[in-house]
Amino acid sequence: MNKCKVCDAAAAPRAVLFEDEDLVAYLPEDAVTTAHVVVATKRHFPSIFEAPDYLVAWAFAIANKLSKVLIESLNMQGLNTLVQIGRGSEHFTINIIPRFENDGLKLMWNPSKGDMDELKNVQGAFNSATSGKWIFETKGKVQEEKSEKNNVLKPVAGEENYLLKQLHRYP
Ligand SMILES: [Zn+2]
Repeated sequence: MNKCKVCDAAAAPRAVLFEDEDLVAYLPEDAVTTAHVVVATKRHFPSIFEAPDYLVAWAFAIANKLSKVLIESLNMQGLNTLVQIGRGSEHFTINIIPRFENDGLKLMWNPSKGDMDELKNVQGAFNSATSGKWIFETKGKVQEEKSEKNNVLKPVAGEENYLLKQLHRYP
């Protein structure tokens, strides 16, 4: 047994719905609703922002396919897909949560239009961080970068613009 919940679940064959060399999808013991599915990377990352693009894309593709099966096979009202950040998991993890009438789960938020100056600040920060270019990390590219520069996937802990700096990882 590991201390990690995701690694433990991945090691329990009866709970696994999908598995390949990168990902595992399973029914967690602590399900929030019936048929709650977790899609997780097998690898640990210092933070989920360190998971390479191809892996994040693959995780969402698998989550999408599993969601389709769930919707077609269960009598549900819909489902929520959640990515948790800052909950102590070292895996990139997507939670697929089927929703049923009176399931008791409360995901509440109060939508508002937001302040236009604030929105423009956010837009400006992203534009300057990316220079208008978005680079997709393919599997081969990440391996190549890792072998050339070992520290490339490590977080810049304590830096003020940590998230924006991550966007510069592969200029
Ligand atoms: Zn783990």
